[in-house]
Amino acid sequence: MKTYRMLVGGAWIVAAGGETFETESPFSGEAWARIPRGTPADVDRAVAAAAAAFADPAWRRISASARGALLRRLGDLVAAEAERLAEIETRDNGKLITEMRGQLRYIPQWFYYFGGLADKLEGRVIPIDKPGVFNFTREEPLGVVAAITPWNSPLMLAAWKLAPALGAGNTVVWKPSEFSSASALEFGRLFEEAGFPPGVVNIVTGFGNEIGERLVAHPRVAKVAFTGGDRTGQSVYELAARSIKPVTLELGGKSANIVFEDAEIDNAVKGVVSGIFAATGQTCIAGSRALVHRSLHDDFVERLLAVAKTARMGDPLDEATQVGPVTTRPQHAKVLEYIEIAKAEGARCVLGGTPATRPECGKGWFVEPTIFTHVKPTMRIAQEEVFGPVLSIIPFDDDEEAIAIANGTLYGLAAGVWTQSIGRALTMAERLEAGTVWVNTYRAVSYMSPFGGYKRSGIGRESGLSAVREYLQEKSVWIDT
Ligand code: NAD
Repeated sequence: MKTYRMLVGGAWIVAAGGETFETESPFSGEAWARIPRGTPADVDRAVAAAAAAFADPAWRRISASARGALLRRLGDLVAAEAERLAEIETRDNGKLITEMRGQLRYIPQWFYYFGGLADKLEGRVIPIDKPGVFNFTREEPLGVVAAITPWNSPLMLAAWKLAPALGAGNTVVWKPSEFSSASALEFGRLFEEAGFPPGVVNIVTGFGNEIGERLVAHPRVAKVAFTGGDRTGQSVYELAARSIKPVTLELGGKSANIVFEDAEIDNAVKGVVSGIFAATGQTCIAGSRALVHRSLHDDFVERLLAVAKTARMGDPLDEATQVGPVTTRPQHAKVLEYIEIAKAEGARCVLGGTPATRPECGKGWFVEPTIFTHVKPTMRIAQEEVFGPVLSIIPFDDDEEAIAIANGTLYGLAAGVWTQSIGRALTMAERLEAGTVWVNTYRAVSYMSPFGGYKRSGIGRESGLSAVREYLQEKSVWIDT
């Protein structure tokens, strides 16, 4: 079994206590690698290394275009290693190889984009209303950025943080999820190979309560960029507030896919199916509520079942597989618990609703694709994030009701709208409380377009021009001539 090391100050180290933990394949259930179990002392070392690298002329005085070139070189290396990294991710988190390949091939774009942006972060000259006074601004990096990432799209979500943070001139300590650290540690080699000075990127592995908190609270960490569950996000926010650190929080969702009576129904069916069952429902943007106009409700459910029933489950490394396992044992138990909650609440289970025991699922942590009808908007199954392949269908009678149901959760990450009316599409784009609204499509993201949550789904934006602002501070310089 492979034993990994952590990257601190350019050295590959074992954890201070020498301990490791095993990472398991969600498909076979077998442990396949040992990951260092980092301690607070390792966090301190990593932050010290990042702070030293931030102060080091090798990084601080490197020209912005040279910094951009490093990021672009890194993008090339990721592209060259995409297949290998995709396989590691699939092995570690059980997501389909087809999906991880797609992500890995796209990840370089974040490094190209923010590498390209590095030398375009200009200040301004302010025409101050006092004679002889000159005022200008500088865009400056914050310092050491703590990047904390979840297990569901490990490298993609890390790229969303690391590319703008490094492009803006910061240094980074990255703590990947304890359930998906192997690909992060493999990725670490590429920073070295691209030529980043030692300490600019550090990776510490381990558990959230053992090292995540130390990282967030560390006095020399200037900013926290976090993706994960909203409860964890809340505690990260509270902890960061104690030392007045800015945060970017990308949290959970309960996104609505709204199918209007004028929708192209087959497209809408495809969109709803991929919105909830892609990645086994383990995406923050999962369209876990389908709001369907009452006039087409029964027809829609019938077509949806016809498609969802044919989903091939099995080995995520097999290209033909369409639904893979749930990533972690606790998550598997949580999904099944929510299914029982929904049944007890009176929702009607019309598909799935059990662990999957098909022979092709082996010993994996599978749950059958599950669909509930007769769901009321106030039920827990319609309010809380399940993070699994569980869809709730809720009928509505008119646009106002659809908006009220869609907006009627604490979350506001994304929404899908299926209609042929441009007027309705624009109204929905305005009235839905969500950081992303998709019309006649779902799950599209780009390095160019801002991504983030309204309400309890988060704070700040990743990707696009907005993202780099999350990693800069503006200085006002006055000169009395
Ligand atoms: P999680 O909140 O359990 O863990 C996320 C990360 O935080 C992990 O690295 C974990 O070790 C760390 N962590 C845990 N406790 C911590 C603490 N007290 N202090 C600091 N760090 C701590 O989330 P998860 O289960 O890994 O991921 C699933 C969640 O992530 C879902 O809720 C999902 O919606 C969300 N998510 C959001 C987005 C988005 O962009 N909005 C994307 C993907 C996933």
